[in-house]
Formats: sequence, C-alpha cells, structure tokens
Amino acid sequence: MHTDNRTFRGKKKIALVAHDNKKRDLLEWIKFNRDLLSQHELWATGTTGRLLEGELGLDVIRLQSGPLGGDLQIGSKIVEGEIDFMIFFWDPLEPLPHDPDVKALLRIAVVWNIPVACNRASADYIISSPLMTQPYERTLPDYAVHLERELR
Ligand code: PGA
Repeated sequence: MHTDNRTFRGKKKIALVAHDNKKRDLLEWIKFNRDLLSQHELWATGTTGRLLEGELGLDVIRLQSGPLGGDLQIGSKIVEGEIDFMIFFWDPLEPLPHDPDVKALLRIAVVWNIPVACNRASADYIISSPLMTQPYERTLPDYAVHLERELR
C-alpha cells in the first residue's frame, strides 16, 4: 500500500450517474442536498447531467450518455485522478445493453480506491462524512509489481 500523490481536495469532484429507473431517486437526493453539492464540481453522464441542469439548475460537466460511452468516460476520469467519489444509482432489476460498461466502471473505482455510493443510504453516509470538507489522502495498492512484471 502507498499513499496516492493526488491528494483529494476539500472541494470535491463528484461523478453522478443514474440509470433510467433510478434517475428520479438521484434527482430527489441531489435536490435535498443541493446547497452542499453546488459547492463542489459535478460531473455526470449525458442524460443524468441534462436533468440536473434542466430541473435543478446545477452547473454540471456533462459527458456522453452512459450507453454511448459515458460510463467509460467517467472511468477514464477516475484513472486520471479527476474524480473524488461517485454516486452511481444503477438499476438492480433490469439488464441493460451497457452492463459490461457498468461493470468496468464499478471495477475501476475499486482499482483506484474511489468511494462509490450505489444507493441513497450510502450516498447519505458519504455526503455527511467530515471528509467532505477536508483533503483526503487515499491509499493505493502498490501496482509496481503488476507494472514491472516479467513477461515471457
Ligand atoms: P445517462 O447514462 O445519464 O446518459 O442516462 C447513465 C447510464 O446509463 O450509465
């Protein structure tokens, strides 16, 4: 384990994603926490972001729609150290065409030790953490073993 040199700052970069059946739940949660969330930098997949801008008037950095690659774009931002945590209300009751992308996004969040909330209770815990207003140094496994492995 080692400490990541990309210290998570006091102003957080938050990724917001919701599947269609969960968009109303996410919107309601964001509306409830609007004042706090508006102090941070918000990133979202395309349609989720459009709703946040249109219905709540929030400034959001919008990526592509999830099924068109937006989940993968969020994943790539995580790899680049651009996202501090993710609120991802995925739908546990419907198979979706981009299930592999969803799995990839959840996987890469674990690889880079990013907090992820997949339901409202977890989102409440994250947003009420004292770490919301403080820098946070996350630890990462030592990936040098993987990067420098011998190949035959
Ligand atoms: P959307 O994508 O915000 O563009 O609907 C969400 C998703 O399905 O991953």
